[in-house]
Amino acid sequence: MADILYYVIPCYNEEAVLPETAKRLREKMREMMETGLIAEKSRIVFVNDGSKDRTWEIIESLHAQDPVFSGINLSRNRGHQNALLAGLMTVRERADMVISMDADLQDDINASVEMVKKYYGGCDIVYGVRSARTTDTAFKRMTAQGFYRFMHMMGAHTISDHADYRLMSRRALAGLAEFKEVNLFLRGIVPMIGYPSDIVYYERAERFAGESKYPLGKMLSFAVEGITSLSTKPIKLITYLGFCIFFVSIAMLIYSLVRHFTGSTIVGWTTLMVSVWAIGGLILLSLGIIGEYIGKIYLETKERPRFLVEQFLNEDGENEP
Ligand code: UDP
Ligand code: MG
Repeated sequence: MADILYYVIPCYNEEAVLPETAKRLREKMREMMETGLIAEKSRIVFVNDGSKDRTWEIIESLHAQDPVFSGINLSRNRGHQNALLAGLMTVRERADMVISMDADLQDDINASVEMVKKYYGGCDIVYGVRSARTTDTAFKRMTAQGFYRFMHMMGAHTISDHADYRLMSRRALAGLAEFKEVNLFLRGIVPMIGYPSDIVYYERAERFAGESKYPLGKMLSFAVEGITSLSTKPIKLITYLGFCIFFVSIAMLIYSLVRHFTGSTIVGWTTLMVSVWAIGGLILLSLGIIGEYIGKIYLETKERPRFLVEQFLNEDGENEP
């Protein structure tokens, strides 16, 4: 018996591309059903993220025409990541595997077949990674590269050139459901789940129609969101800075004393110099220490799972956790 595949597609003001996306996805799905790769009960789920155009009407009519299409209508615009999560969590009990994809056909649908094959090969998570960014503008390429590098430096470990085109098994989705945090940055959380994973490379096309919903400003706030929701490294930087300045203040102390005793200063300069540096350093250091605790509290409030069991070998022969 083949397994059930659900596609989850977040859509925000996508009336221009949706009919084409639906057509291509349906074709691909038929093909996979006919070759026996996926079950007949597989579905394509569009999540309407509070669109202001006719997106939801289109989804409704698609659903009326063909039961392979499903729709989830969110109460208002909640942003890409939340829309995606809403879709994943709504379908996770019905599907054996879920592929998430953008609505704009930038991700190569053909790569799904390879993802599904890797799923049958035992992978719980299969990441779609762009092999080339030739279709992006040089500016988008550069900013995207800087984005991944900066994220990495700040302790947010994501997979480079992987957006949200990925396959997740039911088990991986159950793992994801354990992450109860409100500020959810999927690209950072999914690698934390673990389980056997693999990568499928594909070429990213240009947006089929409509406009990008991620201009530079939104991308920057996305990066900040990602870093602050995943890591407390920025706080650590304050502590390091405090240490550095404190050491500088010691050097300044020696320097000022030397100047003082060689008599080449005006009265009051030495005390002023030393106290400014020492106090600055101490304040930063103290802030850093307080920050470390706040960082700990922050991570505690997220109540992330401390572990996920993959297998449990036990005498009674039950290998499933
Ligand atoms: N999207 C969404 N809610 C939003 C913004 C975007 O659901 O508030 C969806 C959008 O419809 C698309 C996906 O997120 O399916 C990615 O957006 P887009 O293609 O505009 O981003 P880009 O590829 O330019 O980074
Ligand atoms: Mg896009």
